[in-house]
Amino acid sequence: MRRIGPPVIFILAFLACAPLHAAWLKGNTHTHTLESDGDSSPADTVKWYREHGYDFLVITDHDKVTRVDGGGMLMIPGEEVTDRLPKKPLHVCAIGLEEAIKPQHGATIVENLQKNVDAVRAAGAIPAINHPNFGWAFGADELLKVERATLLEIASGHPYVNMQGPPSVEEMWDKLLTAGKRIWAIGVDDSHTFKPEDKDPRPPGQAWIVVHADERSAKAILGAIERGDFYASTGVELEDYAVDAKSMTVKVHAKNDARYRIQFIGANGRVLSESAGTSATYAFRGNELYVRAKVIDSNGKCAWMQPRHLRGGKHSDVRTPGKKAWPTNAAGRSG
Ligand SMILES: [Zn+2]
Ligand SMILES: [Zn+2]
Repeated sequence: MRRIGPPVIFILAFLACAPLHAAWLKGNTHTHTLESDGDSSPADTVKWYREHGYDFLVITDHDKVTRVDGGGMLMIPGEEVTDRLPKKPLHVCAIGLEEAIKPQHGATIVENLQKNVDAVRAAGAIPAINHPNFGWAFGADELLKVERATLLEIASGHPYVNMQGPPSVEEMWDKLLTAGKRIWAIGVDDSHTFKPEDKDPRPPGQAWIVVHADERSAKAILGAIERGDFYASTGVELEDYAVDAKSMTVKVHAKNDARYRIQFIGANGRVLSESAGTSATYAFRGNELYVRAKVIDSNGKCAWMQPRHLRGGKHSDVRTPGKKAWPTNAAGRSG
């Protein structure tokens, strides 16, 4: 038998490890139906997202897991664990949940959030802290004391959750990152209404995430969300996003004659560099605590990439997309 030389072994090993069907998949992780306080059946809710080009959907009815067939769109089961203290709504979404969790209750905001986050984790699901400014319930001071939360909503389609603050939830996120926390930002619909005649619209299609998944499966999507391999958007679509040990590069998929600003943001939310146009590269200096990219378009729509933590000068090897992460077939998809 012919011996296989090292280069061939290397190529075979690479092929065995490389994801064959890696794709960027668009999804919403916070949705309500008639099973809680939404206005439409689970089937009609799924139909809206499927017909608007979404790849996956998490239905998060209050305190229950609603199961429905996606008809070709991936469905990931979830729940909005809906707790409260007097005048303080304290909501935590569980993404990838099999059995419903009861709100765990706690005497303080921090204890309450922590018990619910831990219950979500114990059930094997991903915890997302929802809308801190809904009812002006809590802020960065409390969030700094909550451990093990994976996600924080910083953009929402819900009209009453005060994302812009002050303080904005994006500012809270920078406070957490500056303190060294690993927490990823998501955009969600928190959609409740799908009928045009609804007098109190909380409609779908406002904010979402685009996940870099090894394959088109719930397991791959959950894995990518957990490691921060995704970006959040309210309308800006990326053509490419690459991070290596030296730099971070963003390329925008330009559309609708919009103009774009690309920011690279570091500790305390400070803008490290900003440029106009559809592509930009930031070379790490090495002393940033973290660097994250944000794109803002001339209609106020944004995309937020997850931070690259630099740990005071040492490049970490975590939670970054591959060098050439964007597949050509995703670039032209409508947002
Ligand atoms: Zn809520
Ligand atoms: Zn909700």
